[in-house]
Amino acid sequence: MKSFTITALLVAMSAATGGAAHAHSTADGNKDHLSISKYSEIIMPENNLHLRHNAMSGDMTEDDFNRIIDEINVIYEPIVNSHGANLVWRRNWDDNTVNAYALQQGNNWIVSMFGGLARAPEVTEDGFALVVCHELGHHLGGFPFKGTRWASSEGQSDYFASHACAKQIWADEDNTPYRYTVNATAKAKCDATYGNFYDQNLCYRTAMAGYSLASLLAAGRGQTVSFDDRDTSVVSQTYEAHPQPQCRLDTYVEGALCKIDNDDYLIPGKDVTLGRQSIYAELEAARNHCASISHSLNVPNANDAYRPKCWYKPRLVK
Ligand SMILES: [Zn+2]
Repeated sequence: MKSFTITALLVAMSAATGGAAHAHSTADGNKDHLSISKYSEIIMPENNLHLRHNAMSGDMTEDDFNRIIDEINVIYEPIVNSHGANLVWRRNWDDNTVNAYALQQGNNWIVSMFGGLARAPEVTEDGFALVVCHELGHHLGGFPFKGTRWASSEGQSDYFASHACAKQIWADEDNTPYRYTVNATAKAKCDATYGNFYDQNLCYRTAMAGYSLASLLAAGRGQTVSFDDRDTSVVSQTYEAHPQPQCRLDTYVEGALCKIDNDDYLIPGKDVTLGRQSIYAELEAARNHCASISHSLNVPNANDAYRPKCWYKPRLVK
């Protein structure tokens, strides 16, 4: 009876705060651990990574957690405002959930980050920032969406994170140290794409952030990822849920390699006349990030850093 009362109270509290997260039975004895509602767009499937023996062994502090969110907010708050919405952060530092989510409630575009993700051993500060970028990608990444909903698909949110957001948040920093720590395969890809010293450094940094995040996603499935591997599977139609971790690493790398400038104030395909699943949405997206038809459309700087076929199926091809 006592536990029912507590559960009922937590559910009521959750409802009062918008129902984004709700308490579930805590067999692990961790009263801070929440499960996340089906209306949220999460970074990874629900998992028990918070129960690992090394779940808390990451280096990030609460100050790091807040600083990274604050720095990204400075850049993205005006962009979200330009769409008539408010960017709302939920900072759940004390919650051990290894996840993050995006949610829209009216004009509030919410990004919720959990301390459990920041404390995971795979997650560097840059990997954490890339998760924030992924969640912003659900709001801003555009086509392909999850059906006709507001949210960009998982793969598109990943691509936005490395193609658009990482370049926004790190372009003006000194990224030279990454030249000496980047993986050799990732470095070779960045060097083959970018001739400019600063662009190369940014590409290295983004690729390594992608590796941090993809390693966490892989741990959630008992897998590993590598820059030397490639998910060679080919979907027959665009997959909107979470791709395999290697596929997601491939997406982070391709996003880092796409040279087309992102229009930060456009959500490609969101408001086109014939809808978010139409080829007009795909066409508008091809002006903003690398697709094979971007070349035909004479988009400046278009190169072959396409969204991987392990999740993305283009209908318009050159
Ligand atoms: Zn997501």
